[in-house]
Amino acid sequence: MAFLFAPGPMPVLPIDGEPNLYFPVHRIYGIAKNYSTTKIAPEERPAPLIFCKPADAVVYAPGDKTIELDFPCATNELVHELELVAAIGKGGRNISVEDAMEHVWGYCVGLDLTRRDLRLKDQPWEAAKAFDESAPMTALKPVSRVPDNEPMSLWLYVNNEKRQDGSTSQMIYSIAEIISHLSSLYELKPGDLIMTGTPAGNTTFNPGDTLEGGVQGVGILKVKFTETRK
Ligand code: MN
Repeated sequence: MAFLFAPGPMPVLPIDGEPNLYFPVHRIYGIAKNYSTTKIAPEERPAPLIFCKPADAVVYAPGDKTIELDFPCATNELVHELELVAAIGKGGRNISVEDAMEHVWGYCVGLDLTRRDLRLKDQPWEAAKAFDESAPMTALKPVSRVPDNEPMSLWLYVNNEKRQDGSTSQMIYSIAEIISHLSSLYELKPGDLIMTGTPAGNTTFNPGDTLEGGVQGVGILKVKFTETRK
């Protein structure tokens, strides 16, 4: 077999503390509007709102240095969403909520960058969500090294100003419920990443701003957006 041209690089994320081991990224699923500061009764929850980003939207953000992002801005409302990301290590269809956490290999911190003014009512979300470099993420930590079943705090600063400050206890759908729901719609595969939603305070930032965010016990990332591509 021959390729017409050289295939592009496989999107990967490194494994924290494993210099030569990489997680091959299959798909990126996102859940929108998944945080609430008030409790919502299970029967009153809106259905999970799902979108996808292309696997090659992943950009590794090592945390100990600021990485520069350079994508076509094309928006007047570029928004940061700091999120806990679950990495699937074992695939499946119709996974039960009870079994769902067995499918998680590990976690990382991700930014779900969003062109909010392109997320138009009754239109697909690709222009708003699925753009180049729209998913900066830290290295992955295996579940054995992440505090289990405990709320984790999430935060994000823009130029040293705190914008987001929440807890995974504010998630409307738990990670197990998200996995179960996604697996009723798609066959989940090892390599899938799930961006599990963002706490309040996801607001706009501008080219030149530096963003620093993290999830307690998982990692931190630092990114700066410079739109130099014309
Ligand atoms: Mn999001």
